[in-house]
Amino acid sequence: MTLPYEEPLAVRQPGPRVVPEPPRRGEPGGEPCGICTGQASAAVWSDDLWSLHPPVGGSLPGAVWLASRDHVDSFRDLPDAAAKDFGSIIAAVERAIYTLGDVGRVHLYRWGDGGAHFHVWLLPRPLGMLEARNMMLPLWEDVLPSVPDEALRSAAEQVAAALGAERPPRPR
Ligand SMILES: [Zn+2]
Repeated sequence: MTLPYEEPLAVRQPGPRVVPEPPRRGEPGGEPCGICTGQASAAVWSDDLWSLHPPVGGSLPGAVWLASRDHVDSFRDLPDAAAKDFGSIIAAVERAIYTLGDVGRVHLYRWGDGGAHFHVWLLPRPLGMLEARNMMLPLWEDVLPSVPDEALRSAAEQVAAALGAERPPRPR
């Protein structure tokens, strides 16, 4: 049992499909893009291709999200330079998260269902927290008590410092 819920759980049927889907943030007809309008949490590191941000209202210090500097939607839309750099920047952020210690694995998630500005999540699975392996970590992240946003930002700033030693921040 790895779910963060007590049994018995019941499988439920999905609701009717909603087609066309409602616009996401940053899409025509949707709410403004939070990243482009400065509504998202301020970056702790950035260069000409990427910006790195702490979460708000989360439960895992060391969690960060990485966004493209350009307002583009998905992998297929990234400029060539960003697409080619993606593996390199993710590896650098992963290394930076491990410097915090107490990290079992670093998970990388890309959903894109909320906003239409390219971003991915990197979540540290706490060392030894085996029930949070695989797809269970986001569920646990949701139900664990939130830690203060200042603590999330402080941990992200430590990640940014380690990242900056490898890839110095630079203005666009
Ligand atoms: Zn945007």
